Amino acid sequence: MQSTRPRLDLSATIPGTMMDVPLTIRWIFEHNQRSHASREVVSREDDGSIFRYTYADFGARVARLANALVELGIRPGDRVASFGWNTHRHLELYYAVPMIGAVLHTTNIRLFPEQVCWVFEHAGDKAIFVDASLVPAVARALAIRPASSRQFVVMGTSQVELPGALDYEELLAAQPAEFDWPDLDERSGAILCYTSATTGDPKGVVFTHRSTVLHALAAGMADGLGVTQGDVVMPVVPMFHVNAWGVPFLIPMVGANLVLPGAKLDPSSLIELIEREGVTISLGVPTVWLAVRDELERRDLRFRTLKRLVIGGSAVPPSLFDDLEKRGVRTMHAWGMTEMSPIGTASLLTAQLAGAPWEVQRAALLKQGRFTPLVAWKILDDNGVPVPRDGKTAGALWVRGPAVTRSYFRVDEALPVFNDGYFMTGDVCTIDEFGYLQLVDRTKDLVKSGGEWISSVDLENTIMGHPAVREAAVIGVAHPKWVERPIAVVALREGQSVDEPSLQAWIGERVVKWQIPDRVVFVDAIPRTGVGKFLKRELRDRYKDLLDAAK
Ligand code: AMP
Repeated sequence: MQSTRPRLDLSATIPGTMMDVPLTIRWIFEHNQRSHASREVVSREDDGSIFRYTYADFGARVARLANALVELGIRPGDRVASFGWNTHRHLELYYAVPMIGAVLHTTNIRLFPEQVCWVFEHAGDKAIFVDASLVPAVARALAIRPASSRQFVVMGTSQVELPGALDYEELLAAQPAEFDWPDLDERSGAILCYTSATTGDPKGVVFTHRSTVLHALAAGMADGLGVTQGDVVMPVVPMFHVNAWGVPFLIPMVGANLVLPGAKLDPSSLIELIEREGVTISLGVPTVWLAVRDELERRDLRFRTLKRLVIGGSAVPPSLFDDLEKRGVRTMHAWGMTEMSPIGTASLLTAQLAGAPWEVQRAALLKQGRFTPLVAWKILDDNGVPVPRDGKTAGALWVRGPAVTRSYFRVDEALPVFNDGYFMTGDVCTIDEFGYLQLVDRTKDLVKSGGEWISSVDLENTIMGHPAVREAAVIGVAHPKWVERPIAVVALREGQSVDEPSLQAWIGERVVKWQIPDRVVFVDAIPRTGVGKFLKRELRDRYKDLLDAAK
């Protein structure tokens, strides 16, 4: 484990060492401009049309935007918010804002209006860049609390009215395509992202220039996301959620083509874009790919070029993994958190497993994966003792590293999640002899029945293996005898049916008897957080009395 003791600075004792060059986003940008100028960015506009330009064009617009920001009065350290889909304009903000020394606050567009007001205020945003199609959402927030001192800028092609707002394209057109970038300290804040807290106020994490560059390098390694210059990469994971897992920096850095799907995230539009642009790698949460899988099956399609899907944010259901394999697409399971920039692990086969039988390989690939080189970890039992690396014993996961946060933005009190130079993830995990992490549950989502722990993730994965089930969320509900018992909330695949007793019987053939959910409740759709995770708090609330009458 890494030491957290004060550092010994010997830099002056041996002269003639390496250049002291700050690791800033400008490195990625200038490398991209020098080496990958002719590669392309493709972006879907609000009206569905496709916009495309080269990285050289992108660079010129980034400089124009930087000039415009300065003219708007944005100074180093100021926060500038984005409220947008995955588009080329959002990408331009990702570079221009931090490279002038300001901080880009990527706002989650799926928050409730009250929460949008709250994060704008908490971040202290001086200017807010909004996609035209999202102006109504911002207007709803402003109706609650007007923000007269902020400058709004509307991006995109639709004609919409936001009083006092400027037009993005007009702003850029009025500026020169060069900018004299300032030299920044690598520890300066670059991007601010609030976690989608399921309890309490959202918490802001500030990624620095240094953490952003290091995260891109570490996450992009061949044994990480493994992206190369020849790839065509489409992030479906939103740019308002932890930097779309680092894609806006990693992809321009390696010079792969970047395909940004805009607001059209329905399965048919995604499949069409993947096919049209020859996408080789795409990234997103399981919900997106469950819907794409259903559509592929309905139309009996195979992708022409897509070889890998990076799936994370929630556990990958084994049934999804298998269905994608059948269609020639390898799933790379990845795990991470906003507090970790976010990528912590990715699942690839180690040399030891290269010749293993498929069942063994499949089991390893279904785990959350192996750590990137810049994440140190410890998994501790209830007494603070490291658990054995047996792939069975679970404990609380703590992490440390140059792209892991050490505090939350504007939270002054000392929080117990930061301790001894480590951050407590809130995830309960096992680790095996090959270094594969497996997430058993969120600490707060484990179900404790009669003193025994039940993993909601395991049970959900099992239930999602039933051919009629599209999605399943398992929660613990108060029970008069067992304190808590699991219940399953299930959404069925289109045109499929199964009733409660038959599904319980089917589950009973796959798990021990005391883990069979006491009830299965069928719903049309499972409620989700703004970033696509099951909103278990709402489910717990909705079904809290379900087992009251149980004996
Ligand atoms: P966020 O900060 O919103 O990205 O949420 C981070 C949390 O999402 C983690 O602490 C995990 O509980 C969960 N999570 C992320 N990736 C995975 C995964 N591959 N499998 C299961 N849970 C995941």
